[in-house]
Amino acid sequence: MRRLFVILCACALLLSFGCRQQSVSSAVDYCCDTVVTLRAYAPQETVDEAMRLIRDYERVLSKTVEGSDIDRLNRAEGQPVSVNPETAELLALCVEVSERSGGAFDATIAPLSELWNFQTDDPALPDANLLASAAVFVNWRNIEIDGTTVTLKNGARIDLGGIAKGYIADRVAAYLKAQGVEHACINMGGNVLVFGGKPDGSDWTIGIRDPNGAADQSEEVLALADGAVVTSGTYERGFDLDGVRYHHILDPKTGMPVQNGLASVTILTESSAVADALSTACFVLGPDGSAELLTSCNARAIFLFSDGTRIALP
Ligand code: ADP
Ligand code: MG
Repeated sequence: MRRLFVILCACALLLSFGCRQQSVSSAVDYCCDTVVTLRAYAPQETVDEAMRLIRDYERVLSKTVEGSDIDRLNRAEGQPVSVNPETAELLALCVEVSERSGGAFDATIAPLSELWNFQTDDPALPDANLLASAAVFVNWRNIEIDGTTVTLKNGARIDLGGIAKGYIADRVAAYLKAQGVEHACINMGGNVLVFGGKPDGSDWTIGIRDPNGAADQSEEVLALADGAVVTSGTYERGFDLDGVRYHHILDPKTGMPVQNGLASVTILTESSAVADALSTACFVLGPDGSAELLTSCNARAIFLFSDGTRIALP
């Protein structure tokens, strides 16, 4: 009897030690043009490796990194290009969201987005003729995918700025889960993906920025154990000129920043790649045009307008 008691005590001790072992590790870095913060109940090496993985993906998916898959595609002048399986998978998702959103999201936006410079002290509007002639090349139907061979037809060029961070967050979550990690929060500058809640059973908390307030001001705070919360806002990249806010979410038909009174759109769904693409698409479509798309993607949205109006769908 006494032996059983000793064994039970030893087990209890071991268990409590095991629980205390599970402390949070974190890493912060600037990559993918944003501040990336990783938090996971995992060894520090695992979190560091996840951060390395993000930089690897950036080298493959960024159009400004020479030799990346997207750089090679954009320079291929219509010739087929062999890409990484992940790039082909992501481009297939781009095509799907483009189709579902009626082209409001279009990853072939590069000829238009390249005409805007939001990182200058001396901002100016692009020439209207240049915008009009570039708009001709923007059409997601020009992305042809055959396995891991991709062909961009009719002068199309890719800019994954509206989806890559979300996709990378999904890949990082898959990596962490494969390492046996059960609780993590991946934050890529407004692209947040969480899983497993916290070990004590509480949820992860995610602040949605007040788009009309200071950078550290939250409009509301969401609590969730699993899922993606992705926000696209006019505050992210843009400039003010003659009282107008020119920002980085563009109407693929005109190349002009979408001016529909919206200041930000937050999407909640399972996949952060889908949430990222939808945050851009629903910004372009506005609440009235987004309802069907949100339902078909099993996603929810919070639309915040610059006049303070808030619309949640569905
Ligand atoms: P971020 O998370 O960087 O704030 P968003 O998810 O809001 O970005 O997407 C904006 C970026 O996506 C732009 O910087 C540009 O690269 C690209 N983009 C802009 N308009 C569109 C669009 N209509 N469809 C697809 N991509 C777009
Ligand atoms: Mg987006």
